[in-house]
Amino acid sequence: MEHNYENNIKCPYCDWEDKDSWEFGEESGTHTCGECGEEFNVERNIEITYSTTKINCEEKGIKHNYQFENVYIRKEKFEKGFWSDLPENEWTYHQIMLCSICGDKKSINISKDDYERELSSNL
Ligand SMILES: [Zn+2]
Ligand SMILES: [Zn+2]
Repeated sequence: MEHNYENNIKCPYCDWEDKDSWEFGEESGTHTCGECGEEFNVERNIEITYSTTKINCEEKGIKHNYQFENVYIRKEKFEKGFWSDLPENEWTYHQIMLCSICGDKKSINISKDDYERELSSNL
């Protein structure tokens, strides 16, 4: 029997599975079965995957270039697992800034006046 692309080394003679396969340090070599004692060839297959993220400006040592993205009003609060409406005098005003270089977003608190000014000049 043959075993291809298994997660563990399996004996081609008796199907024994070596749970400590990660200890096999070489790319290929021989391995001795812990069950039947036969020696067999092992080739290690390594799957390579890639993940990418943008390099944050701070990692590059440069300043974010934040630009206006949006404004919003938070009219609700989240407390003890529930959302509840806030009275108008407790609404908070926020501006979302987006860095044009790395795409980082931040939300800053602004006054109601600023909110209205941004709203009329940007939207
Ligand atoms: Zn075996
Ligand atoms: Zn940035």
